[in-house]
Amino acid sequence: MSNPFFETWTTPFGLPPFDRIQAEHFPPAFDHGMAENIAEIAAITGNSDAPTFANTIEAMERSGRFLNRVGGVFWNLNSSNTTDALETIARDYAPKFAQHSMRIALDPALFARVAELYERRGTLDLAPDQLRLLERQHLGFVRSGALLPPDAKARMTAITERLATLHTLFGQNVLHDEKDWQLVLEESDLAGLPDFARNAAAQAAKERGQEGKYVITLARSSVEPFLTFSARRDLRQVAYEAWIRRGEHEGEHDNRPLIREIVALRTEQAKLMGYASYADFKLDDSMAKDTSAVEWLLLQVWGPAKEKAAAERAELQDCARAEGMNEPIAPWDWRYYAEKVRQAKYDIDEAEVKPYFVLENMVRAAFDTAGRLFGLTFTERPDLPVYHPDVRVYEVTEKDGRHVGIFLHDNFARSSKRSGAWMSSYRDQENFDGAVSPIIVNNNNFSKGEPTLLSFDDAETLFHEFGHFLHGCLSNVRYPSQSGTSVRRDFVELPSQIYEHWLAVPETLSTYARHHQTGEPIPQDLLRRLLAARNFNQGFGTVEYTAAALLDLEFHTRSDAADTDVAAFERSVLDKIGMPAEIAVRHRPTHFQHLFAGSGYAAGYYAYLWAEVLDADGFEAFLETGNPFDPDLAAKLKTIYSSGDTRDPMELYTAFRGREPRIEALLKHRGLTQSLGDA
Ligand SMILES: [Zn+2]
Repeated sequence: MSNPFFETWTTPFGLPPFDRIQAEHFPPAFDHGMAENIAEIAAITGNSDAPTFANTIEAMERSGRFLNRVGGVFWNLNSSNTTDALETIARDYAPKFAQHSMRIALDPALFARVAELYERRGTLDLAPDQLRLLERQHLGFVRSGALLPPDAKARMTAITERLATLHTLFGQNVLHDEKDWQLVLEESDLAGLPDFARNAAAQAAKERGQEGKYVITLARSSVEPFLTFSARRDLRQVAYEAWIRRGEHEGEHDNRPLIREIVALRTEQAKLMGYASYADFKLDDSMAKDTSAVEWLLLQVWGPAKEKAAAERAELQDCARAEGMNEPIAPWDWRYYAEKVRQAKYDIDEAEVKPYFVLENMVRAAFDTAGRLFGLTFTERPDLPVYHPDVRVYEVTEKDGRHVGIFLHDNFARSSKRSGAWMSSYRDQENFDGAVSPIIVNNNNFSKGEPTLLSFDDAETLFHEFGHFLHGCLSNVRYPSQSGTSVRRDFVELPSQIYEHWLAVPETLSTYARHHQTGEPIPQDLLRRLLAARNFNQGFGTVEYTAAALLDLEFHTRSDAADTDVAAFERSVLDKIGMPAEIAVRHRPTHFQHLFAGSGYAAGYYAYLWAEVLDADGFEAFLETGNPFDPDLAAKLKTIYSSGDTRDPMELYTAFRGREPRIEALLKHRGLTQSLGDA
């Protein structure tokens, strides 16, 4: 039987030959890739020559290519289009990969060579990107435990392996609950739902073999519109309660015991490394640098956000009372009455707006913005291989036709895809041993329709992920480990979040927000009202996000994390910070994938707000010029997108902005300025 991973791919641009790749091809390819990688490392440590940058650091950059290629395909498919077979392989291999990477990170002979180079780094005559690579590789070894005594190293490896398994199980449990649950409705249950929500529910029913009925699922793109529009308070409550209970029920898919173990292991890991808590350990290698900087930022917005939410709640309660609903606003009422108040206050109706946000046109808007700012052109290539018929493929070129990369756009929700929206890569850009161009994917979870219509928030998500795509695609670095988005976690959301601003530029909306039936551009009056309404409900949005970030920090700043009762801990944190009863935290612990389906955003959920300080302040620079497409500023911004991790993030930012970031633009953008004095 032939295995495509052991062949040279002849597909255009080196795209994976998706049509030929089967689940059973992965295990032998993984085994081979790990063995080959170990042999490559042994060749470096076995070199009798004294360590040099070339024979050690560059040789490491050259290692693991086979494994990376297989892993790139596997982890992407497992997220976007998984099967039982792929899930089984993910569970089997997660601890093996963790063990593999720890074996390299804790290899004493390898570290000895890196450490020697690090000591002599000032005399090696390195270019700036090489010096940073050496410093960061050295730090990576240290933070994996390379300086620890042997028994502590062994424990670090065991913890890392166990965490890999727990992270995988956590994510699979959330996906299970989202797949498993459905609210099947009849025509008579749809009171209040506008056409787009009915169509999406009909489509979801069809996909689940319930033709003629309507299905609400626990995907955010399905349940949020239902909570916003359904006039049936009883059904809203049913959907809401299922939504916030994902991962929280007795039985084999319960995420509570997993969280207990994950948090305890992370605390132990931090202590082995000499830190008081996991957050201290994590933040030591971030742009924020320490817990107090993060706390300061979160508390800057928490007080004003709660005040704004309280004022919003009063308006919702008035609105509910006027409609004869005399009970206090419950969490499953908030979105519903917020939409009514929004309609009344700004004379704006989500169902009136949505017909102007056709997916196809919003994609075009994202492409054309990248054309104006950075000179990119997108050409659809339906001839190229894909892993699912819904995926669209584009070749990205410079204006002069030079190939830049490949973009895969996977926009629709399906039961084989994990929830949320994300960017990732099948291949990263590098120029080390010849130019390698990137292959980047964006995943969204939009409800498919005929045509697919987006909310303004959905369109923002599309632009957000597209900003991450640009970070991967515009990357112009020498070494693979410095490519694209491999920057500090609290800097990685800057390129994505700043890109969202170009959606709300009036010029973008009046050009691309066109009615799906008439093709008419969005009326100026509606556009004006839409933009005016953007600060509306920001108290709610800021509260649900900031509470989640504070909860993350509390989970990871404890110095004794044994035996956490997850629900009681969540409750005590929310009580302590004075969480409004009508608002739920944006991600409850049992489905907080940022924290527990991996460690990337653990003690790092604040990163979105941290980056928002940068993106609001950064976009303000364009507003100051009076031209949101100012070419000089766009050229400076492009440097942030193309530098990967070759430079310090604060240095990159100040080179673009001409000064360090300030918080004022963020507060203004979220409409939190007026109440700041009371905070
Ligand atoms: Zn992002």
